[in-house]
Amino acid sequence: PVALNRRVLYESQQKPVRIPTGLKRKSSRILVTGGAGFVGSHLVDRLIARGDNVIVVDNFFTGRKENLLHHFGNPRFELIRHDVVEPILLEVDQIYHLACPASPVHYKFNPVKTIISFLLYKTNVVGTLNMLGLAKRVGARFLLTSTSEVYGDPLQHPQAESYWGNVNPIGVRSCYDEGKRTAETLTMDYHRGAGIEVRIARIFNTYGPRMCIDDGRVVSNFVAQALRKEPMTVYGDGKQTRSFQYVSDLVEGLMRLMEGEHVGPFNLGNPGEFTMLQLAEVVQETIDPKAKIEFRPNTEDDPHMRKPDITRAKELLGWEPTVSLRKGLPLMVSDFRQRIFGDTATSAS
Ligand code: NAD
Ligand code: UDP
Ligand code: UDP
Repeated sequence: PVALNRRVLYESQQKPVRIPTGLKRKSSRILVTGGAGFVGSHLVDRLIARGDNVIVVDNFFTGRKENLLHHFGNPRFELIRHDVVEPILLEVDQIYHLACPASPVHYKFNPVKTIISFLLYKTNVVGTLNMLGLAKRVGARFLLTSTSEVYGDPLQHPQAESYWGNVNPIGVRSCYDEGKRTAETLTMDYHRGAGIEVRIARIFNTYGPRMCIDDGRVVSNFVAQALRKEPMTVYGDGKQTRSFQYVSDLVEGLMRLMEGEHVGPFNLGNPGEFTMLQLAEVVQETIDPKAKIEFRPNTEDDPHMRKPDITRAKELLGWEPTVSLRKGLPLMVSDFRQRIFGDTATSAS
């Protein structure tokens, strides 16, 4: 790996980024908090490819260095191990604020869940406040990755940004839902009060390569279970719905939002809606038609349905998803296959 890093360093020093004439764009200094995670690392790939200078700040709570290894040695890339709950001084033009322990196991099932939910809430509130403080000090544009969870168990379907949501403030998920709602509040307060340029994305369920394998989210669970020949665990009756977005569509949406003129909030999600039983069927079609299903009791306050109304993003950002679940899932499956079985065992899986 050392030799490889040296080679990458050498090559990146030899080949300055060429921007085609007519498309001249000043390269920016961009901070990505949570950049070692699933979404963040894909975003970093796109920013580096575009010619920007990227600083990742991550405490590796749910993220992994492996997701960024291919950028080590690139002089336009820097990785800082840091918890955003602590203040930090950096000079940047834009901040993509993704840092948040986003996996459900970390707040729903963890044996020390009170501590975990406190951590989660603190990251969303104190972490977001620090990043807004940083944006204010250096005059950077700030993008918050909020979530469809701010709609709670929605009484409006599909959900438009104008809907205020139906959230239980004292339930098992509220550290996440309310944490993100507070993060949105702080973001708008800094915008109105301190004149910070802000952007808010409300992200719907997203999947793709580099997702944590055992993070407890439904797509990663079903894919890992089907590959390991274990039954897919469907919670409740499996009739609850979600709408699944492929990660490259999300990254495109986040970048358009950051570069565009509109604060938002914007729903970023794929309107293709599936029950969990239908999702299990797609996984069967993709991996193993004989994969079994096992029903388990559902978790508390599970939203019954979720589907984004993306009219606003279509009109104001010119954005809509292009990758269907049936097209995107195989791309994630080959990544999971490799990570679960290693390169050589792929065919034996
Ligand atoms: P992820 O867990 O893979 O990434 C989050 C990253 O933040 C990890 O690398 C983690 O180590 C880091 N982090 C956590 N707490 C931190 C702290 N205190 N200081 C510094 N770093 C910290 O999750 P993801 O799916 O990539 O999510 C990225 C963002 O998108 C999150 O804000 C999440 O809430 C939001 N989001 C994701 C989805 C989805 O389906 N993936 C849906 C809605 C919203
Ligand atoms: N902050 C930071 N980096 C900076 C500027 C501020 O981490 O470059 C933190 C700061 O420590 C504070 C928070 O951001 O906790 C909010 O900062 P702000 O200046 O808005 O508020 P104040 O410090 O006046 O409470
Ligand atoms: N779910 C499931 N089996 C699993 C994990 C989750 O049936 O192994 C269900 C869960 O009850 C929920 C849906 O899948 O209805 C989406 O769950 P996830 O935790 O992925 O996302 P979120 O609830 O945050 O949308």
